Amino acid sequence: MSAEHAHSDRSAEHLERAFRELLAEKGIISDAAVSERLEFMYTRTPALGARVVARAWFDPGFKERLLEDGSAAVTELGIDIRGLRLVVVENTAVLHNLVVCTLCSCYPRMLLGLPPDWYKSVEYRARAVREPRAVLAEFGLSLPGDVTVRVHDSTADMRYLVLPARPTGTDALGEAQCAELVSRDAMIGVALAGSPSNVL
Ligand code: FE
Repeated sequence: MSAEHAHSDRSAEHLERAFRELLAEKGIISDAAVSERLEFMYTRTPALGARVVARAWFDPGFKERLLEDGSAAVTELGIDIRGLRLVVVENTAVLHNLVVCTLCSCYPRMLLGLPPDWYKSVEYRARAVREPRAVLAEFGLSLPGDVTVRVHDSTADMRYLVLPARPTGTDALGEAQCAELVSRDAMIGVALAGSPSNVL
């Protein structure tokens, strides 16, 4: 096992223990309910977020509702986000959005699963705000100078999801194929949606 994995496993165990103890201490929820919650969280993967993005690309009415009230719109798709306040921010030809949590590691886990280690790093949390373009360049994303980069700082009760722009050359693709172009990183804002050559 690599050092990185060992660290992730310890963090997850620590989080689970802290979560159980807090809930038990407050008498809020049973141990069985905590187990159910954890099992629920392990079902979360970026495929859920990608489904939301692809639907927005195909259904302008859904996209409008998604940008207006992210929580209500994803619930329309049958995705249970359990009361999370979700704010969806749209990338356009003149605006690029980037998500960070400067305080800790708040992340739209309900739609993306567990955050990558770099997202939780002190370096990313500090530099995403201070020098977002340099950070994006390190991820291989160089944006034109006339594109504004907007950084969104997540909090414990509000999470952001980036709605990437639909790539060109995808007119012949269906919604499910388009969803395959939407990576976790694109929904954090450190990448764009992929090229259609990846799914054809
Ligand atoms: Fe946080």
